[in-house]
Amino acid sequence: MKVVLQNLTKIFPSRDKKSGQEVIAVNDFNFEIPDGKLVGLLGPSGCGKSTTLYMICGLQKPSGGKIFFGEDDVTELSTENRGIGLVFQNYALYPHMTVKQNIMFPLQNLKGKDKLTKEEMFDRTLNAAKLVQIDELLDRKPSELSGGQQQRVAIARALVKMPRVLLLDEPLSNLDARLRLQTREEIRRIQRETGITTVFVTHDQEEAMSISDIIVVMKLGVVQQIGAPQSVYDDPKNLFVAKFLGTPPINVLEGKVSGGKIYIGDEAVLEVTNVDDQDIYIGIRPEGIEPNENGVLTCNLSSVEVMGRDSSVISTHPASLNPIVRAIINSDIRIDTSAQTIKYNIKPHKFFIFNKETEERIYYEVK
Ligand code: ADP
Ligand code: MG
Repeated sequence: MKVVLQNLTKIFPSRDKKSGQEVIAVNDFNFEIPDGKLVGLLGPSGCGKSTTLYMICGLQKPSGGKIFFGEDDVTELSTENRGIGLVFQNYALYPHMTVKQNIMFPLQNLKGKDKLTKEEMFDRTLNAAKLVQIDELLDRKPSELSGGQQQRVAIARALVKMPRVLLLDEPLSNLDARLRLQTREEIRRIQRETGITTVFVTHDQEEAMSISDIIVVMKLGVVQQIGAPQSVYDDPKNLFVAKFLGTPPINVLEGKVSGGKIYIGDEAVLEVTNVDDQDIYIGIRPEGIEPNENGVLTCNLSSVEVMGRDSSVISTHPASLNPIVRAIINSDIRIDTSAQTIKYNIKPHKFFIFNKETEERIYYEVK
């Protein structure tokens, strides 16, 4: 089932009497979520992710725009009639019910032609439990389960009605690091097996990058960029997206374009065509700079952190906006840590420049 968001907007009235400033939580969101894909809605806290999700499921009414499931306009449809499965950060299980009763619960309210027999309900419950691999735990109470198991029950409960669309709002945030990894792989597997169109909300870029077919990066209610995770990482449209994706984060420096050359400080680091003279921000991925004694960029060497396969070379530069400039290199490469400075060469495809006012990407060609 494809999901179409058309000029979707949500404005909350002001809560601050003094300023009277209303909040545009979601601003003119347009996107067609392809059938069967997992879309990661990604952005910092408060950027409008949950509000978008709540409008898709009908818990919030849009201030403007429309939502379609397939060809059906569901904008005015109640949550119960949209055919969605919802999973939240806190698992919200009924504590007095067993796992089986929790999963079965949504089926017991089905009416009319949708009404199921006891056997049908149990079959569906067992299938959903098997899918999330908790069929051994059906007689336990939620308090007898780990956080990861509780979240699996919540996912099974969302799946048992065979929803047209699955919506997950930060479903892994309450889990510890290892369970988070494991559960996100589970969600990916379940989504692939069922082929249910899924929207997964998270503020964690690594989580979104690893799980999604498509990511949507949001900032202050406005969609910044939509694309396959790797393509957004490789080709960010603006400085915000470049900074938001990637661990460790992108290096950001001030620089300028002058006479067809990009300068950092007084070093010309790249010759380009088609760019006017101007001050710029420069983003360089940590894997985009390589130590080289004849390198074009000179930094002050601080330290080298060897971490198994890779090393992080930590240095500083007066033009850097981050406290450090970090290079990730193969740990076989030895760095003389007694040196004061280190010179780097630059990989142009890991090197982005941005307009200093708008912070939009400036596209250049290497000369
Ligand atoms: P996210 O899920 O990305 O953290 P939300 O969608 O929850 O962000 O919130 C987006 C913006 O809308 C925030 O500025 C938030 O304070 C505001 N907001 C959310 N819900 C309400 C509400 N019920 N009333 C007023 N403002 C709200
Ligand atoms: Mg939220």
